Amino acid sequence: MVKKSILRLWTEFRSGGLSPLFLALWPVLSLYHQNATECPPGAVARSLVVFGGLGTAAILLFRVFFTDRPIASVQASIFVLLFSEGGAAFNALDRRVPDSFLGAGVEMAGLLALLALYLIILRAARPPLRRGWGPVHRAVAIGSAALFFSTALLGLRAAGRFSADDVPPADGPRGTAAPDAPDVYLIIVDGYGRADVLKDLLDFDNTPFIGALEKRGFWVAPRSRSNYPVTPEAVASMLNLRYLDTPSPLSCRTLIQQNQFQTWARKAGYQLFSFDSGWLITSSFPLSDVHIESRGRLNEFERSVLDQTVLGKLFPLLIRNDQRRAVERNLRELQALPRRPGRPKCVVAHLVLPHPPYFFDAAGGIPRAGTDFNLMGPWKEPGAYLDQLRFLNQRLTTIVDRLIAGSAVRPVILITSDHGSCFQGTVGGDDRRLIEERTSVLLAVAGPRVLTAQLNDSITPINAVRRVAETFFGKPGDPLPDKVFWEPPTREVP
Ligand SMILES: [Zn+2]
Repeated sequence: MVKKSILRLWTEFRSGGLSPLFLALWPVLSLYHQNATECPPGAVARSLVVFGGLGTAAILLFRVFFTDRPIASVQASIFVLLFSEGGAAFNALDRRVPDSFLGAGVEMAGLLALLALYLIILRAARPPLRRGWGPVHRAVAIGSAALFFSTALLGLRAAGRFSADDVPPADGPRGTAAPDAPDVYLIIVDGYGRADVLKDLLDFDNTPFIGALEKRGFWVAPRSRSNYPVTPEAVASMLNLRYLDTPSPLSCRTLIQQNQFQTWARKAGYQLFSFDSGWLITSSFPLSDVHIESRGRLNEFERSVLDQTVLGKLFPLLIRNDQRRAVERNLRELQALPRRPGRPKCVVAHLVLPHPPYFFDAAGGIPRAGTDFNLMGPWKEPGAYLDQLRFLNQRLTTIVDRLIAGSAVRPVILITSDHGSCFQGTVGGDDRRLIEERTSVLLAVAGPRVLTAQLNDSITPINAVRRVAETFFGKPGDPLPDKVFWEPPTREVP
């Protein structure tokens, strides 16, 4: 039975009948390979099953529709490719052509209707339209097999390297904390720019929010800058209270999982709480006693795959609602933490806001701006960014109020950004204005004098987190110099 199936598969492969299956799996494998350093292999499994099913279904359906095998195979390949890469092609095109009044969904539906019409005409047509497909069929067969096997090999290699780097949870004795030890919250708001830069660059006045924080006992650094321009390095370094020796996304994930901030807290008798950010590098914290899972139905990889497909453009709410649910849950759970058992608490929450893509307007509704976001390019739609920032401001104010009101001992809260906004270009190069924009961050601390007296106006996240760890987890030490690294992450800038 097994032998027969393998033989059948081999025959199909040799006759080029598997092209649609290869072309269905290739975009998933390719996306995985491009993001392998940030993506656990397990996160890809469901996508492979679904797209494998799609490719197989396309093969069978088109064979019913077209009795001629080569024609069926080529049309099924075209269909699969358009489906799985349609959204990506649209996003690429969208950057070059001005927005039409129809909207992406309508345009995409129109294209699909054209494709259906083409298939019906082809089926009804008599030769010569249906002759001569043999060479096309062979070319598609060779091309799709080459794409599939090369990306599959690269993916397997990356997956092998990744699993070797997974981290076991820590053991060792937990210390005993003093009865009046405060809960400590580290809230990382991704891509949140500093107030003066928001004003100069985007003409946005953030002083009401800064004032609201100050009214609640926060000290806000007027000239804070990030230590690194990108999230993996920035988060890994601040959580480990030091600069990185050899920064790379893979080493950053390991460093975040084994981070010193939580390790120190545990030794000092703290209960460790963390959140699934929905972003793969900070989605798991093996050291934590309580890790609050994100309840999105799709993981980040699946959302990216979906965004590449026609479905992502036809039904953008599929992706947005999923992400919104996950963020909403994290915000709700964060403000409810004082009610959870376990004290004192050390909490790490990475909120991927106000960083694009945009899922919230200022009132928390669904924004009109696009969800598509290109990791490599400059950020788009500053208005949508500011709306998402306004939404975050409002929620952070509530969260801070709840944390303070719900805690018997006044909690220590450090709100910091990993890096600033990025509207003036792509990270890299020597543009002083871009370096200034991207490295200017929000950094606000609420805590007793013994902590805030140690902070200076241009303090960087590494030193702020380090001061908190030293003051409350009991390891006094010297502050490090406040340094700013640019791209490559070993290059220090003034
Ligand atoms: Zn970031």
